[in-house]
Amino acid sequence: MNKPSRAIEADPQIGARRMIVGGRVQGVGFRPFVYRTALRFGLAGWVRNSAGKVLLHVEGRAADIQRFERVLTSEPPPLARPRLEVSSAADIEGARDFHILASEAAGGTDIHLPPDLFCCDDCLAELQDPAQRRFGYPFTNCTQCGPRYTIIAALPYDRPSTAMAGFTLCPRCRAEYQNPLDRRFHAQPLACPDCGPQLTFRGGERPATGTLALSATIDVLRRGGVVAVRGVGGYHLMCDPQDDAAVMRLRQRKHRPDKPLAVMFPQAGADGLDAVRRCVILDDAEAQAGADPARPIVLARRRADCPLSHALAPGLAELGVFLPYSPLHHLLLARFQGPLVATSGNISGEPVITDEAEAGRRLAQVADGFLHHNRPILRPADDSVVRVIAGTSRPVRLGRGLAPLEIDLPEAFAEPTLAVGGHMKGAIALGWDRRAVISPHIGDLESPRSLEVFEQVIADLAALYGVTPRRIVCDAHRGYASSRWARTQGAPVTWVQHHAAHASALAGERPEVARWLVFTWDGAGLGDDGDLWGGEALVGAPGAWRRAASLRRFRLTGGDRAGREPWRSAASLMWEAGYDWSPTTEGAALAAEAWRKRVGAVHTSSVGRLFDAAASLVLGFDVATF
Ligand SMILES: [Zn+2]
Ligand SMILES: [Zn+2]
Repeated sequence: MNKPSRAIEADPQIGARRMIVGGRVQGVGFRPFVYRTALRFGLAGWVRNSAGKVLLHVEGRAADIQRFERVLTSEPPPLARPRLEVSSAADIEGARDFHILASEAAGGTDIHLPPDLFCCDDCLAELQDPAQRRFGYPFTNCTQCGPRYTIIAALPYDRPSTAMAGFTLCPRCRAEYQNPLDRRFHAQPLACPDCGPQLTFRGGERPATGTLALSATIDVLRRGGVVAVRGVGGYHLMCDPQDDAAVMRLRQRKHRPDKPLAVMFPQAGADGLDAVRRCVILDDAEAQAGADPARPIVLARRRADCPLSHALAPGLAELGVFLPYSPLHHLLLARFQGPLVATSGNISGEPVITDEAEAGRRLAQVADGFLHHNRPILRPADDSVVRVIAGTSRPVRLGRGLAPLEIDLPEAFAEPTLAVGGHMKGAIALGWDRRAVISPHIGDLESPRSLEVFEQVIADLAALYGVTPRRIVCDAHRGYASSRWARTQGAPVTWVQHHAAHASALAGERPEVARWLVFTWDGAGLGDDGDLWGGEALVGAPGAWRRAASLRRFRLTGGDRAGREPWRSAASLMWEAGYDWSPTTEGAALAAEAWRKRVGAVHTSSVGRLFDAAASLVLGFDVATF
């Protein structure tokens, strides 16, 4: 360490400041940004990660420090969300240079976990430039892009604690990793064709690797086949969306007759959405959502002249569309020269499959080929789905790119709390201090694998954020797998009525509103009186809801099957209204008998069941497949 000269110490213009920066500053290139900014203003000192925040010390001319401090929060890297929490005068240490110091171990509770990111423009340009050493390399990334949540084993976010631990950097990558002025400085997933993950295609006579693996994949897709492609947060099942037979083949094999399939389009044009616009109509908000670095699936209106198969979303006027988010997807779409179906590689309703061996085993009957890679996926993250409602993009499913979703709360939790969510389309949330974190979509908690992932996500989030839940919140329905799990954990459990939770979630978005009237209309949730609610009007505020009104209840038989068999709702309503009506459906006679004798019948005010009844009576849909 150099000693400061007397002249500097005596100069009243020279000062030192210590700053703590919170917010999203890990895994987004914030420390290199601090380094470059310090150099820009001729400042000496150091920066390091510390308990989820960035701690830094700068010294130099007071005016330069002021400018540095301003730039720190006004010009951060695109993915960073810095918050200057402390800035105080410090003793001059006499530093001559600026250094990035090793991270201090995590342990604080102000940890911010970056979600998985898209492939940035700089990396995309490299990927497409034959003069670059990463030309055509599917695992190209930098501090501004690439996977995060799905590869982080533990925090602080350093390479040995990621899925990249097993890949030793080659000399050229190491030089980039160590150069603070390189855009790959400390990019933890950094890789190149010499030292990084590789592709393998299985499905032909012998496995193919590298570009041959890509070619083999394209061959299968061109022939109308289905390929399971390992991506960032799990496997996709891909096929040609213009080929009716290919789409139907995928549907039959996946036992998914009607549920819409998302389509991934090549990135083209100024905002990347030119190819998307040939198939769907995007308003400004939808275009903005589609071009977002989170790269969600956006639900948009299908164009009348859309050339894609109608089997993608039977009977629906919209289509789920999204842009490629990993270099591998860019390469696949460029070679295929058109869009591709990209639907979750899973068994219906379960979490997306992440493991190579499991994919080979469980998707064997679905896929004609497998495009694997050897970068481990530490936890599943399905694609996010958003819909624009009243001009605002709203998540229908939180997943890769958006989750874990971190929320600042107006009030603090009394104790660290885990909320375990519903039974279908499950997700969990962790709350502590004035923060809440929502996990990616897990899936329907109907199978052993779903429950396994459910438990893994809970353990994972608790460990990553360093939070031990002291209380568990679950749905009042004791039959939900999540509620059953909550009861076995030994922690105090708080039961929340389903629609009270819906109303509170809404109220949470507008803390300035003190007293609410909320219409909670949905499928069904267990009510305080044991009936199945779903058409309620609640008055009050979070923690103090009162049911002010409700739709007229009707007697419904069939239990859980009623949700999957709309004819049951139709028949029950007809009988309730006094019509002597017998549906032609199998089991109708038994249902009629049960309804008359009130066997296995519940009373429900569910709006969802009214929709079901209308779908059955008006449209003739007697069975719902999703
Ligand atoms: Zn990049
Ligand atoms: Zn390398």
